[in-house]
Amino acid sequence: MRSTGTPTTADRLSRRGFLGAGAAALGAPLASAFASGSRQAARLTSTDLGGVTLIQGAGCNVVAMAGPDGALMIDGGLAENADALLDAVRDATGNSRVHTLINTHWHPEHTGANEAVGRDGGVIIAHETTRMYVSNAVYSVTFEGRLAPLPQVARPNRTTRAADSLEFAGQRVDYEHLPSAHTDGDLYVRFPSLNVLAAGGVVSGEAWPILDYRNGAWYGGRVRALERLAEMVDVDTRVAPAHGRPITGADIVRHRDIYQELFLTMIDYMNMGLGPEDVVERNPLSEYEAEFGDPSTFLDGAYRSMLIAYVPD
Ligand SMILES: [Zn+2]
Repeated sequence: MRSTGTPTTADRLSRRGFLGAGAAALGAPLASAFASGSRQAARLTSTDLGGVTLIQGAGCNVVAMAGPDGALMIDGGLAENADALLDAVRDATGNSRVHTLINTHWHPEHTGANEAVGRDGGVIIAHETTRMYVSNAVYSVTFEGRLAPLPQVARPNRTTRAADSLEFAGQRVDYEHLPSAHTDGDLYVRFPSLNVLAAGGVVSGEAWPILDYRNGAWYGGRVRALERLAEMVDVDTRVAPAHGRPITGADIVRHRDIYQELFLTMIDYMNMGLGPEDVVERNPLSEYEAEFGDPSTFLDGAYRSMLIAYVPD
């Protein structure tokens, strides 16, 4: 079991705390407050997305689909919620086991059911770098501390570098790499005939998905990812983001527009010689705060990733 990482602590830093005290000083009390909350039993909810079920509350959004020899599951929540999640998948699909699990990326909120699925002989699909991350001890700006490797049985046993498809319960299921968009191994998963998209870590229905910029993500990759997703949706596409409420293709197009505009703004900021603190202070995303929350941590990481890419040491 992976033990030392506390997910998304950085998401919980307020702007005031972020500017005043810094992430390191605030990390400990926030992490312990979060940990005590997460010990409560997970309350999972299921929503029919039309041919697949969205299960929420396990640590990330999970998509499940019934199959002849077991369920298809996209992402797996936190390890501490794996039993509850697998019960919910059973209720939603009528399948007693997961036949195929797709990890959209390696963060612990998404790979917590890998061990149970792997021990049961399931196929675990992910990008090649996802397997690399879960096979090693890792640090990330998205959690405190160091995350231990997953046991061999929990690691993806089928990987892709670019794009691939599978046939599941008579449906075509496509998955494709979105380079450097949230980590450096993000996949989206798409059910073209159901008009359903599991967008993975690049999209949230009600927050700013931060960039794991010390592990290969950068803001230009985020923009390109939203451009790619916007190409494949229509206004009615039902979209399961990694976190938050289900959204539509129309939301994806809007997110793309927001990210594209911010990219140009950040280029201007770089030309002005601003630092990450200045960008957080200016808050070019203030008009979206009511909808997506405080963007400070996201802005800080996004801008730092731009500096790393464009400004030589
Ligand atoms: Zn993530």
